[in-house]
Amino acid sequence: MRVFSASSRDFSDLAVMKANSIRLPFQTPVAARVRELASAALRLAARALPSQCALCGNLSQSLLCDGCDAQYWNEPRLRCATCALPMAASAIRRERENTRLHCAACLESPPAFNDTLALADYRAPLDTLAVELKFRARLAAGEAFARNLRAAFEDSDLPAPDLIVPVPLSHTRLVARGYNQAWAIARPLARMMSVRADATIVTRVRHTSAQSRLDQETRRRNVASAFAVSGDVRGRHIGVVDDVMTSGATLDALARTLKLAGARRVTNFVALRTPKD
Ligand SMILES: [Zn+2]
Ligand SMILES: [Zn+2]
Repeated sequence: MRVFSASSRDFSDLAVMKANSIRLPFQTPVAARVRELASAALRLAARALPSQCALCGNLSQSLLCDGCDAQYWNEPRLRCATCALPMAASAIRRERENTRLHCAACLESPPAFNDTLALADYRAPLDTLAVELKFRARLAAGEAFARNLRAAFEDSDLPAPDLIVPVPLSHTRLVARGYNQAWAIARPLARMMSVRADATIVTRVRHTSAQSRLDQETRRRNVASAFAVSGDVRGRHIGVVDDVMTSGATLDALARTLKLAGARRVTNFVALRTPKD
């Protein structure tokens, strides 16, 4: 069994939260000093603790050890420029070196979004990071996805979006999970790209059932009219961020909603892409 451990940074944040929650009877300068010292001691303890690489378990002070960091982020994959579906080299007839590639599905019926950047396929070992982020609140994984998405964007010829939004969760799911994993990627990504981020401009108006259990056609119907735009997106290029892109139906519905509200262009930034349904 693989052992997961909080990175020293996660632990340090937790330590500060704990220290701040130490209740003292009186709010005196002495009490404040004691709290400060307790906080410093916990920080120090966190730094001294060894932690492990989230993928291979080797000792590492950051989320991934140097070896995993170098090995797994640079997956050489040809992808559809529109939906980021991986494409077989044999299926590609390129006339020029830098022609954008498109999969048959996107050529036949183009989705509402214009482009998709994806880091890697949704499979081992990087799927571990998506699981850690989504179900174990390991926010450092969101930062790592953001850093690599920013690098992928820099390597692309894509224009920068005017605004970055996360794929929203329904209110029910947000309350249950306590955070939106897409926002945990979108916020650092926007900061790194110097683009404004807004987690409230797009909302999920209908609670859709878990997508993984449904076939593609049902998914499409399931997500149609699931979103609402509450701010002004007219004439703007919107960057939409999600952790995992599966069928693309959710992102298609969101892009359609944004375009109906006047958005000029929609670029998806997704951490991991499911190769096939
Ligand atoms: Zn490692
Ligand atoms: Zn495509």
